[in-house]
Amino acid sequence: MEFEAVIGLEVHVQLKTKSKIFCSCSTEFGAPPNTHTCPVCLGMPGVLPVLNKKAVEYAMKMALATNCRINRTNVFARKHYFYPDLPKGYQISQYELPLAENGWIDVEVDGKKRRIRINRIHMEDDAGKLIHDESRPVSYVDLNRTGTPLIEIVSEPDIRTPEEASSYLKKIRQIVRYLKISDGNMEEGSLRCDANISLRPKGQEGFGTKAELKNMNSFKHVQKALEYEIRRQSALLLDGKEIVQETRLFDVAKGVTHSMRGKEEAHDYRYFPDPDLVPIRVHDDWLKDVKASLPELPDEKRERFVKDYGIPVYDAGVLTESIDLASYFESCVELYPKAKKVSNWIMVELLRLLKQENQDISSCKVTPKAMSELLTLIDDGVISNKIGKKILEEIFHKGGSPKEIVEREGLSQVSDVSELSAIVEKVVRDNPKEVKKYRAGKKKVMGFFVGQVMRETRGKANPKLVNELLLKLLEGS
Ligand code: ADP
Ligand code: ZN
Ligand code: MG
Repeated sequence: MEFEAVIGLEVHVQLKTKSKIFCSCSTEFGAPPNTHTCPVCLGMPGVLPVLNKKAVEYAMKMALATNCRINRTNVFARKHYFYPDLPKGYQISQYELPLAENGWIDVEVDGKKRRIRINRIHMEDDAGKLIHDESRPVSYVDLNRTGTPLIEIVSEPDIRTPEEASSYLKKIRQIVRYLKISDGNMEEGSLRCDANISLRPKGQEGFGTKAELKNMNSFKHVQKALEYEIRRQSALLLDGKEIVQETRLFDVAKGVTHSMRGKEEAHDYRYFPDPDLVPIRVHDDWLKDVKASLPELPDEKRERFVKDYGIPVYDAGVLTESIDLASYFESCVELYPKAKKVSNWIMVELLRLLKQENQDISSCKVTPKAMSELLTLIDDGVISNKIGKKILEEIFHKGGSPKEIVEREGLSQVSDVSELSAIVEKVVRDNPKEVKKYRAGKKKVMGFFVGQVMRETRGKANPKLVNELLLKLLEGS
């Protein structure tokens, strides 16, 4: 029997507002434990939460960017559970009336486009962090993170493969980064994912019983955990056994999932509307302003790049991977309009250097002006491609202008016929044996001569001219 996986993701995104969602404490990461706290986020009795408007706007941006309908009235609810990292004894979340519903995101796997529907996006506050001392039987709690704004994006069970799940997650990361509402970093926990997965016989419409997978903090782990789970569940089903509904943890070291808690131990959260917070009303003007603040999103930008610049879809995809890279490309093309050439140099040379140095385009020392200058110098025959790459590397590390470097280091190509002729003649004169070989039909020796001329000119000879001059001399007499 062949099975098909049914997968739905619940994704948490930490919003990078300056202050927390219900108090003015800083959300800055890495401060000494419990220094970014106040009576509100510590859950002291008698305090009142005050909603951070920026957090709502960030959440609205994500909702609009993922084609959701915004609920013009939405309500915060208390979700009760007991845990030492949750001082209030409840999380402030949204339940019956979330911020937004019914959206979608398009993903592409192996050239196949699929639309993944979004069930809802709601806002909530984050919990603190427990730190377990390995050497002693104690745990510490750090409440700096408590009250950091989160959104939870709940997908419909529309995902069918681990690759699609990973691609959907990456799309979410790309969008939150475009919107500049989150770092979207899985390893650091600003993007977190729980995956629900069940199997069904191919062709069947109804869903099977699902397991919920937690504790995956990289795209790879999500994919690995889902792959393992497909193997585990299909083995059980083929054995005629039943899948039990449960929450499972991914064991990174072993690459397997194991049961954390069953349905019986599932929480009863006793949700009810938070009496301390009035409903949020999203009026027309506010919605209009937030809509107007949205940037061009990845899908539209990619299509426009193909249309406006005539570059291949693949290039457009790479160049629009981040909004900063996309604007870098556009700034270059504004100064130097041969878009495909710019694209090649960015994709092959610049991205290689950025990756190698683990650096971001936003802090890149090669300005669009320098890039356009460099490509113009190559076009004009002042320098060769090869020297161009060397200069790019130098600017990448030290900054500066290609023109100045060419002048300062005397790198311009020797295109002067009489100067080059003299060198070519000398090389031919000094290597009679090789000349003999060439004239006996070993045309490959040409490479040797070109190499010699390049050595004499420290790589600066115009290669086309060298070839012409050599041919004339070697074939001529
Ligand atoms: P629960 O009541 O257990 O929280 P929900 O219906 O709220 O379940 O769905 C939670 C997540 O699980 C959603 O992302 C949804 O798409 C996904 N999901 C629901 N049912 C299934 C299923 N049978 N198989 C896989 N995923 C599912
Ligand atoms: Zn606080
Ligand atoms: Mg649910």
